[in-house]
Amino acid sequence: MYHYLIVGFGVAGFSFMQQLEENQRSFLVLDNHSQRSSRIAGGMYNPIILKRFTPAWKAAEMLPYSLLQFRKAELKYKSKFIHEIDIYRKLASIEEQNNWSVAMDKPVMRDFMHPVTYEKIDGVEAPYGFGVLKGTGIVNVGKVLDEAIKELQKKDLFLRESFDYDQLILHKDHIEYKGIKAKYLVFAEGYGLTNNPFFNYLPLKGTKGEMLMIRTEAKIPYIVKSAAFLAPDVTTPGQYYVGATYHWTDKSNEPTREARQQLEERLSKLLNKKYEVVLQKAGIRPTVQDRRPLAGKHPVYSQLAVLNGMGTRGVILAPSVAKELFEHLELSIPLSPEISIERFPIKNPV
Ligand SMILES: Cc1cc2nc3c(=O)[nH]c(=O)nc-3n(C[C@H](O)[C@H](O)[C@H](O)COP(=O)(O)OP(=O)(O)OC[C@H]3O[C@@H](n4cnc5c(N)ncnc54)[C@H](O)[C@@H]3O)c2cc1C
Repeated sequence: MYHYLIVGFGVAGFSFMQQLEENQRSFLVLDNHSQRSSRIAGGMYNPIILKRFTPAWKAAEMLPYSLLQFRKAELKYKSKFIHEIDIYRKLASIEEQNNWSVAMDKPVMRDFMHPVTYEKIDGVEAPYGFGVLKGTGIVNVGKVLDEAIKELQKKDLFLRESFDYDQLILHKDHIEYKGIKAKYLVFAEGYGLTNNPFFNYLPLKGTKGEMLMIRTEAKIPYIVKSAAFLAPDVTTPGQYYVGATYHWTDKSNEPTREARQQLEERLSKLLNKKYEVVLQKAGIRPTVQDRRPLAGKHPVYSQLAVLNGMGTRGVILAPSVAKELFEHLELSIPLSPEISIERFPIKNPV
């Protein structure tokens, strides 16, 4: 009998597993590779919304714990995952320069925002300069997951398969699945949640995102943001990530011509050097109607729990939300109302 069965191993499932390892709880992980959000994400951590120069919800508060958890993972797997990289927000006008300077003096913002600079960046023209953000960077989430899976496979704790909801047997104080018994079953399926008959009553909308990987001779040491992000590929020098699009109706993981066109159009306004596109990828962000994570026990079957809704900021949110869920399940500490699924009452329990 395991303490936990985890279904889904993106950044949410990984973060929950870290809680289990730190607290010596036994577990088994199942993942079918059907969702790719965590693997194709840029992995950027940035607690400031760069459109409006406002703080993202709880991001500055959660960032230190997120970095601590990924740092622990670096030590455990003897690998580098965190890359500290400043963000240069290209400013479009005098008005934006002024807005930047005003926002810079506000609480939270002042910890990250730095004065406007006219520093030259290879291949990028910016007559109004850049607002600089420090304390930001990239977590190579794909590498985190690969390293973690390798370790789990060595211990026979990872199964590459689809969870079949029909095979789940709910006992009073544990679950049983194809002969596997566990006290709790935690679903961290990302957008795959929409196929889960126990939790698909939750308002997970899903927002498709696409990105390009380009190769160029321009040497850009920062993450540059204007209409698109241009970020160094931390694994391959000379390659850059261009992202990302937002699409609310297409729920497939397939790259589209429209998204490529949109990204290239935005890139042409940012980069004035030649480039070639080497890759295009798409995934569905698990976004929620009210833009807050989803965590908690099923209202009827308390052996089932959910960890989802990381939206556009999985890197920053997942470690803290996973910790809250773990402490809720183990110590009965109430979840923050903003992330608890109790805010969405179930109408017809299965
Ligand atoms: C283009 C793009 C760019 C992004 N950029 C950033 C960024 O820069 N920074 C940031 O913080 N966030 C970013 N995000 C958002 C981030 O990717 C998500 O918040 C995060 O990855 C969600 O993680 P998750 O573990 O909840 O879901 P997922 O990563 O989708 O993982 C869910 C896992 O569950 C598995 N699964 C689902 N159903 C089943 C089943 N029935 N049986 C077995 N396994 C199952 C899936 O295969 C998958 O591995 C971006 C997203 C996109 C699409």
